[in-house]
Amino acid sequence: MILMTFEEAYRVMRGKLLSGDPAAQFRGVSIDSRQIKPGELFFAFPGQRVDGHQFVVEALGKGAAGAVVMRKVHRWPQDKALILVDDTLKAFQSLSRYHRRQFEIPVIGVTGSNGKTTTKDMIASVLAESGPTLKNSANFNNEIGLPLTIFHLSYSHKATVLEMAMRGRGEIAELCYIAQPTGAVITNIGPAHYELLGSLENIARAKGELLEAIPPTGFAVLNGEDQWCIRLASRCRGKVLFYGRGDNADIRALDVRPVTGEGMAFTVRVGTDKESMFIPVLGEHNVLNALAAVGVGYQLGMSLQAIARGLKKVRLSPMRLEKFKGINDTMIINDAYNANPASTKASLKVLQHLRKTRAIAVLGNMLELGPLAEQGHREVGETVADLGIDYLFTVGDLAEKIARGALERGMPEEKIRVCRDNQEAWQGLQQLLRPGDVVLIKGSRGMKMEEIADRLRAE
Ligand code: ATP
Ligand code: MG
Repeated sequence: MILMTFEEAYRVMRGKLLSGDPAAQFRGVSIDSRQIKPGELFFAFPGQRVDGHQFVVEALGKGAAGAVVMRKVHRWPQDKALILVDDTLKAFQSLSRYHRRQFEIPVIGVTGSNGKTTTKDMIASVLAESGPTLKNSANFNNEIGLPLTIFHLSYSHKATVLEMAMRGRGEIAELCYIAQPTGAVITNIGPAHYELLGSLENIARAKGELLEAIPPTGFAVLNGEDQWCIRLASRCRGKVLFYGRGDNADIRALDVRPVTGEGMAFTVRVGTDKESMFIPVLGEHNVLNALAAVGVGYQLGMSLQAIARGLKKVRLSPMRLEKFKGINDTMIINDAYNANPASTKASLKVLQHLRKTRAIAVLGNMLELGPLAEQGHREVGETVADLGIDYLFTVGDLAEKIARGALERGMPEEKIRVCRDNQEAWQGLQQLLRPGDVVLIKGSRGMKMEEIADRLRAE
C-alpha cells in the first residue's frame, strides 16, 4: 500500500499544495468518499454523472489525510492537504506509475478477447505458491481500476498480475505506461469490441501494444492455437513461449479430460519435464487459460509441481460458470458475466458435458459485435442444434438470430422459446424445469442475465 509524503506526491503529479503540511504522510488512495479510510488520499474525478469535487469536504471529514482536486472547493479544513492539479485522472495515473517503479518484481500484464479475468486468477494462484502476489480484484482492468490496483503494491509482494482491458487503440499502451509490465500474456484474439475497432486486424494490433511494452529481458506467453497471437509474436523483444495442445507448443497439454463434473485433468509437457495437473473448473478453454499460467510460472523459475499445486487451488471470480442448485432439483450454471460467440460456444460444450437428462440453454444478446452480430448469433444457434441441447430460450432482439440459427439447423421449433426479456424467460423456465435438468445462463453484461439465475436459485 502506498505510503508517501504530500511533498513527494505533489511533485510527482506536478501539482500545487494549497494547504496542509508537506511533510505529513498519507497511506493508500481512494476515489470513493463512501469507502474512504482514515489517512488516505482522496482523488476527486470530474465524472459524467457525479462530480467527485462535491465529496471532498465529506472525505476529509471522514478522516482522509488530503485530497487531489482540479479546482478549489468551498470551506475545506485548512489543516488537511489539498493538492491542485490540471487533471485528476492523469495525476492519479502518474502517481500510480511512480509507485510501481519502486518495486523490482515481475509484473505480468494479461490481455485478450476472452478469458482475461480467469487467466489472471489462475496466474495469481500459481504465483502465490512462490510468494505473496497482487492481482486486480474482480474486473479492475481499465484506466482507473489498474492504477488503483497498483497502489496496493507493497514490499511484501513478490509478483503482480494485472488484467488489461481495451476498447480502442492506444488504451493498452496507456495501461502499460503505468504498469511497466515485464511479462505479457495474450489469451486469444476474437471479435469482442469489434464495433469500435472495425477489424480483427485492428484488434490484434491494439492487443499487440502489450507485447511492445515488454523489455528485452522480459517475456511473453501466447496462445499457440490462435493465428493472430502467432502473428503478433514478432512484436515482443523478449522471450516468447507458446502454449496449446498441438505438438509445436512450448507449454503443451496432453490427455485433456473432464473429471465427473468437477474440473479438468491433463498432463503438461515443457521440454523434457512432465506433470499431471488438475483445475477445479470445467471447459477445454479453461485448460488453455491454465496453460498460460503454467507458462508464466515456468518462465519465472517455478517447478511444474509447484505450479500444479497452485492451479489446484484456483477459485474463479463470480458469474463465470458458477454452478448452484436450482428450484425443482435442477443445476444452474450462471455464466452471465459476459458473452460473445467464442465464449458461448465454449460454455455450451460445458453444458453438454454436465447434462444428466435434459440440457437447457438460456442465451441473451451478445453486444458490441458490429457487422459480425448477425452471423455470430446464428452460429451460436447452429452450435446449440449440433450439440443436441434439449431446449433453447433466447432473450432479446439480437438473440432471436440464435433461435433462427438453431431452427435452420434442425432443432424442433417447439423446443425453442424466443423471449423479450429476463422476466419472460424465467417465467417460462419455472414451468419447464424438472429434477435433473441442467440450465446454462449466458449473455452480454448489459443483459444482466444473473436476474434469471437468481430467480431460479433453490431457497
Ligand atoms: P471481460 O472482457 O469482460 O473482462 P474476460 O476476458 O476477463 O472478460 P473472463 O471473465 O475470464 O473473460 O471470462 C468470461 C467468459 O469467457 C467466461 O465465462 C467463459 O465463458 C469465456 N472464456 C473464458 N476463457 C475463454 C477462452 N480461453 N476462450 C473462449 N472463451 C473463454
Ligand atoms: Mg475480465
